[in-house]
Amino acid sequence: MLMPQTYGHFIDGAFVPSESGETLDSINPSNGSIAAKIAKGTAADVATAVASAKAASSEWANMRPLDRGRILIDMGRKLRDNMGKLAKLESDEMGAPMGGAAMALGTAAAYFEYYGGLAPSLQGETIPVGPDKHSYTVHEPYGVVGVITPWNAPLNQTARSIAPALAAGNCVVHKPSEYTSVTALVFAQIAHECGLPKGVWNVVTGLGADVGDALVRHSDISKVAFTGSMRTGQAIGAIAAEKIMTVTLELGGKSPDIVFEDADLQAATMGVLLGFIGNSGQVCLAGSRVLIQRSIYDKFSEMLVGASQFFAIGKDKPMPSLGPIANKDQYEKVLSYFEVAKEDGAKLLTGGEKAEGEGLENGYYVKPTIYGDVNNDMRIAREEIFGPVGVLIPFDTEEEAIAIANDTEYGLAAGVWTQNLSRAHRVAGKIQAGQIYVNYYLESGVEHPMGGYKKSGVGREKGMVALKQYTQLKNIAMKLS
Ligand code: NAD
Repeated sequence: MLMPQTYGHFIDGAFVPSESGETLDSINPSNGSIAAKIAKGTAADVATAVASAKAASSEWANMRPLDRGRILIDMGRKLRDNMGKLAKLESDEMGAPMGGAAMALGTAAAYFEYYGGLAPSLQGETIPVGPDKHSYTVHEPYGVVGVITPWNAPLNQTARSIAPALAAGNCVVHKPSEYTSVTALVFAQIAHECGLPKGVWNVVTGLGADVGDALVRHSDISKVAFTGSMRTGQAIGAIAAEKIMTVTLELGGKSPDIVFEDADLQAATMGVLLGFIGNSGQVCLAGSRVLIQRSIYDKFSEMLVGASQFFAIGKDKPMPSLGPIANKDQYEKVLSYFEVAKEDGAKLLTGGEKAEGEGLENGYYVKPTIYGDVNNDMRIAREEIFGPVGVLIPFDTEEEAIAIANDTEYGLAAGVWTQNLSRAHRVAGKIQAGQIYVNYYLESGVEHPMGGYKKSGVGREKGMVALKQYTQLKNIAMKLS
């Protein structure tokens, strides 16, 4: 049996061990084996990485944007060249089947291509203030940005923040999830082979309480981009308030996916189902509250349950397949919600238990799960489960659907399925969420801005708007006479 590889932090263009010499095990969730060992970072490691980034920041910020962009585009190409290797590493560490891992990595590559292309377009404006003055704005980088990412789509979420941060001229200290750090480390090294100067992207691995907290508190970090849970987002927001520091918080959701009686039900079935079981439900945008108009409720529930049976369970099974839950803590959390559902009195339509069978013995597998006749006050309708679990809620009128959709503390995304164009726009306009899909769900396009209303977050990632969020705006006003 192969010994798991040990990875150091990637700081100043090279792999280095943790100052403490300690490591953490990264577990393959499909069989419980050790996929890799990573450095268990400390505040001292964070300080070394921030110093490296600070030293690199002037050269990187002053590089011609066209040249910075070229390096990013090359990183996108190199990511595609290394797709097989990176997808295998990500699949073994996070549990996504190879096809799903490769799809997420294709989007990661697109972030570098997209923001590389946009780098030279970060232009300011001239502001008309009369003939005797000249006033204009410029977008300047922050300097050193801290990026903290979760485990559910490791390199994809990394690229979503790193690409615009670098394109805008910032250097980055990145802390990936302790469950899934390997692809960020491997790709950071590949990025340096593309001409990224040393110190521009440093990766420090370890626990949130050690590395993440030290990163957010560091005095030379002037912006943090965080993707993860609401609880951690609140802790980071509190530190940012004290430091008076900009943060982008991309947090969780309990997004409604509304199916009206005039929808194309065939198309809606797979769209809605994948909206909550795709990536084994470990998607911040998951459409996990399915609101179904009562006249089609029985028929559409049956269609969803029927379609859920097509998915093979097992990381290495051919598509369409579902991988395991990505780590033991999350697996136990999902299983605990099956008990919550019983207490809630929800009607189990399918799943609701571990998945067992040949090859699944030591993996964190659960069955795709659907609960029917749910009401929006139940805990399973209010709390983010982050597993392949959908709750079906009947409604009668458009107004009632909108009221149920908005009755949540979250506001990340929503879906609307209808063939009535007026209704689509009317409902989309009234839903309190940062991203609305009409007649499809979950869009991996890098061009659409995403982010939360309410407790789903602060700021936006993706699209042109995200590039600007990695800059600070300066106005220069000059008297001409
Ligand atoms: P998490 O908050 O536990 O961890 C996220 C990251 O924060 C990890 O790297 C972790 O080590 C670090 N961290 C933990 N405690 C910290 C602290 N005190 N200070 C600084 N950093 C700390 O979240 P998770 O379990 O890894 O991810 C799942 C959550 O992420 C879900 O709620 C999901 O909805 C959300 N998510 C949101 C998006 C989005 O774009 N909105 C995308 C993916 C996941």
